[in-house]
Amino acid sequence: MAKRISKTQYMMGLQCPKRLWLYNHRQDLLPTVTAARQRLLDEGLAVDELSRRAHPGGELVEYDNRMLHLALKRTAALVKEGPRFIYEGAFAAGAALVRCDILERNFDGTWDLIEVKSSTAVHEEHLSDAAVQRYVLEGGGLKINKCWLMFLDASYIRQGPVDPLKLFRREDITARTAELSPEVEQDLRKFMRTVASPDVPEAPIGRQCSDPYDCEFRGHCWKGLPDSSIFDIPRLSWEKKNTLRLMGVMKFADVPDNFELNEAQRLYQRVERTGRPVVIAPAIKAFLSALEYPLYYVDFETLMPGIPLYNGSRPYQQLPFQVSIHVQASPGAEPEQLEYLGDSYEDPRPGLIEALRRGIGPKGSLVAYNAGFEAARMREMAEDFPASRTWLPGFADRLVDLMIPFRQQFYVLPQFKGRCSIKVVLPELVPEMTYEGLAIGNGADAQLAYAAMVRGKLNPDEVKKTRQDLKVYCGQDTLAMVKIMAKLYEAAA
Ligand code: SF4
Repeated sequence: MAKRISKTQYMMGLQCPKRLWLYNHRQDLLPTVTAARQRLLDEGLAVDELSRRAHPGGELVEYDNRMLHLALKRTAALVKEGPRFIYEGAFAAGAALVRCDILERNFDGTWDLIEVKSSTAVHEEHLSDAAVQRYVLEGGGLKINKCWLMFLDASYIRQGPVDPLKLFRREDITARTAELSPEVEQDLRKFMRTVASPDVPEAPIGRQCSDPYDCEFRGHCWKGLPDSSIFDIPRLSWEKKNTLRLMGVMKFADVPDNFELNEAQRLYQRVERTGRPVVIAPAIKAFLSALEYPLYYVDFETLMPGIPLYNGSRPYQQLPFQVSIHVQASPGAEPEQLEYLGDSYEDPRPGLIEALRRGIGPKGSLVAYNAGFEAARMREMAEDFPASRTWLPGFADRLVDLMIPFRQQFYVLPQFKGRCSIKVVLPELVPEMTYEGLAIGNGADAQLAYAAMVRGKLNPDEVKKTRQDLKVYCGQDTLAMVKIMAKLYEAAA
């Protein structure tokens, strides 16, 4: 029998036929799961589990996808005679095979399909996801009464244990999934042909590589591009990138002079073509002269759990759990470091607010890279913890963004390739400082590590090591700012 298209593969096919083909024929190209992806998977599992508590008394079809025949058999038995709710039921019809988050049996013999998402809104792709399930259920003889999308309510504020009945919202998508039904049938036929073909389908790289989902085959499809390609041009629309590709232009330097680029993009191109940096000393000097010493270099690490972890927090609220502060008394002076890292058992924000209050004096600029992030977190914490309202927003007002000289093109190196994040700027300006080799080397890893501690997944030795790794990483971010600042002084001189 021909291979069936699973719900995951159906969604892949909608995004890009090549993704579907590669998934079926070239599993060897699949990369290892990144920290950011793992965080999403963990969040999804936790949300699924909680959604079942909002529909208690059901039965979970536990067989995983390697034992689908058993999952199908068990589901069929539960449909015939079973509880009101079936979780993760497996169904097959025609060319497709799906697992449904929750199925609810109604008194009149009909069923409600409840698709659970860890998002805080209904997106277009969720409708296709539910539509293919509905198609399979109806193809298998079930009468569907309603289709629901169940997702997190962004306005829910945790007080005490999480209440699943209040955490979720439901939206009726019965009519919209019915409208998609004819398309599902056509799509499935098309995807079966794609999978059966020995040849990989043509699909140029484009917006679909990260929309609506990040494609796992980017490393394969995107390799071989010129070192600085049209896809690196900052803030260039996909329409323009596609136009350039069709013109046969792949290198940033080769974009014709009469092609519409904005002023900033044109400057990057000039740097790219000539290989000469842009350093506007008077502008850098003006930026530096606005600083007031002592400087407090500040960096937060945050956690963004879909299911609120602490009282008073909402789904996907950014919760700072760690801060590093390097204090520098005067230009070029040796900085001193202060730090705070939550204990992972309690809400880290009160301790972090206290660390800010003790560590930052009444005078001096606060410096952060992409400072809008730190400013927003300070203002949110002031809202949530009223005792800090009289002074914490004042810290946010004193923040200076160290990214400005790079974003506003006072200082541009060809190696930046039009980007200005600290991870790009630091290795070029301060090559002796690198994030490579650190056990925790980016914000996503830091989140995952702290989340693992919060969820009690680590033994005491692992907790000790993770805390040390987090301190090294966050401390490196603020020390990096000190070094970048020194380079700006050199450039201004
Ligand atoms: S990287 Fe892009 S082109 Fe390649 S398979 Fe994925 S979506 Fe398709």
